[in-house]
Amino acid sequence: MRRWIRQVLFALAMPFLGVAAVHAAPDAATSAKASRTLEQADQIKHADFDGFTRLLGQVEPVRAQLDDATAAKLAFLEGWRATWVGDYDKARGLLDSVADTATDSVLRVRAMATLINLLGIAHRYEDAFRRLNQMQELLPSVRDVRARFAALGEASQLLSSAGQFDAAEAYARQMVDEPPPGESECKGVQHLMRARREAGRLTAIEPLYQGAIEACEGSGDTVFADAMRSDIGMFYLRNGQPRAAIDLLLPHRDDLRDTNYATLLAEFDATLASAYLAMDDLANARKHALSAVAGAVRDEYTDPRRVGYKVLFEVEQRVGNAQSALAYHEQYMAADKGYLDDISARSLAFQLVDQQVVARKAEVETLNKKNEILRLSNALDRKEVETGRLYIFVLGLSLVGIVALVLRLRRSQLRFMRMARRDGLTGICNREHFVEQSERVLAYGARSDRGACLILFDLDHFKNVNDTWGHSVGDEVLKRAVDVCRRALHACDVFGRLGGEEFAVLLPDCSPAQARARAEQLRLSISATSATPSRPELVVTASFGVASTLQCGFELHRLLVVADGALYRAKRSGRNCVFMGDSGDIPDSPYPVAASS
Ligand code: GH3
Ligand code: MG
Ligand code: MG
Repeated sequence: MRRWIRQVLFALAMPFLGVAAVHAAPDAATSAKASRTLEQADQIKHADFDGFTRLLGQVEPVRAQLDDATAAKLAFLEGWRATWVGDYDKARGLLDSVADTATDSVLRVRAMATLINLLGIAHRYEDAFRRLNQMQELLPSVRDVRARFAALGEASQLLSSAGQFDAAEAYARQMVDEPPPGESECKGVQHLMRARREAGRLTAIEPLYQGAIEACEGSGDTVFADAMRSDIGMFYLRNGQPRAAIDLLLPHRDDLRDTNYATLLAEFDATLASAYLAMDDLANARKHALSAVAGAVRDEYTDPRRVGYKVLFEVEQRVGNAQSALAYHEQYMAADKGYLDDISARSLAFQLVDQQVVARKAEVETLNKKNEILRLSNALDRKEVETGRLYIFVLGLSLVGIVALVLRLRRSQLRFMRMARRDGLTGICNREHFVEQSERVLAYGARSDRGACLILFDLDHFKNVNDTWGHSVGDEVLKRAVDVCRRALHACDVFGRLGGEEFAVLLPDCSPAQARARAEQLRLSISATSATPSRPELVVTASFGVASTLQCGFELHRLLVVADGALYRAKRSGRNCVFMGDSGDIPDSPYPVAASS
């Protein structure tokens, strides 16, 4: 609740409470005490998470009496804590407000760095790069070496993930060159090495890396040491030294598992699986591949998951188990495609934001030039200087050039935007864009109190289509199903491909009965149309689940879970039918959040 609302309510309640009116306005003594407690919490947050949480708990009750600076610090630490425990929605709200409104630029940079990390994890790449840009603008004015150091690390990591290896290396170099007091070369070299490995520029294991691993071990930053071992392991593997990769990684694997850092453990397992496969040790290859696949975050296509499925496919093939080999190959193909899609989403988001920044700068430049022309013509009116006219002419010409540049940038920006938001095969919204659009529609629905519904559908026995007719006919069927549905949808409906052969439609301003009828209409349209022109005899059907905001509220995540439950029941009861979500599908809170890496 906003502080002033709380104050008004408090004042209104005073006569009834029978107490003298007290201002809950900022109190200097309380703020100073809270500020010291928060400083202490900040210091121990990595080393003693429970102690950190306890200290925050001491300050939270006096929130209303804090001055703005202390309140911002509290919000930042609460946001940092929410990120750590994976409560991304809450974290985002808190950190956005600190990044946008805090007066202390150090705190703003720290909030931005934490946001960049969490937006990357949540695949919100456009937002992540937008924040990165703001952070880059702010960084030169920030003298606090620790805040700078953390910011450089996040910047390097995000840029490297989008294929911007030169910039990623440059930031990592700065970390190596100017570590803050108490920090060694550990973290800087780790970022440097990762950027080089991802760029394919790791050509030798230099003593620098070995020294950094020792420095990390010395300062207790073992996860950073393991991240470097992971890179070196991959290097050995690529250079035909699988035994060396195993000898390096295996002794540290169990300790790493105990830190619960799932993404890095999955990397270790994927490299170990490939190394054992290269040495024909199929049992160990399978064991580590299964672990790599299981450890990757659910529904996310990461490199370890892709490698894990590839190894499993090859193991089954070598032992002559054709059925399992085929099944793993399918999963490998899907993981490979998903992983590549994610990489291109990252680099498209980078290009898009980069272009927006260039366009904005060009617009500012245009304005400046226009102002200068105006100023000079005013001066000319008074002095009639001939050379001045010439200058105006030259300026006018450069203005025309800049305007042309802005127009060109706008055009390519639009093209990038379309590519980043559309599913490559069907042309409808991809998953990220569907989520973004739907959340916007739902927020509007919540404000204007208009119910909305979500339809989730999945093609039936689609695997059979691929198996019988081949993958390219499968692709045609997907496109055809989307075309058929598009014709039946309204302009305001949001239609997206969530993945594979699963689609979703968000219907604004819609009752459950209307949604059921619309889903029924889509079901009939799909089953009544031949699935592809090249195979007129082929017909596919789809199963549908429907959820309504009347039942689930306006949170997209809840709607998806309830519709998914209904879809599951539709599949169980024979497919090609529509099921409405029921209250049994609504999970108990706390609501599950995406796992963090
Ligand atoms: P169910 O009725 O239970 O949904 O069975 P199903 O066979 O449709 O479901 P399953 O999830 O087992 O198989 C989905 C298949 O869709 C597996 C995967 O290879 C295939 N697939 C995913 N994405 C694409 C794609 O872009 N193109 C093609 N051709 N196939 C895809
Ligand atoms: Mg299916
Ligand atoms: Mg499916």
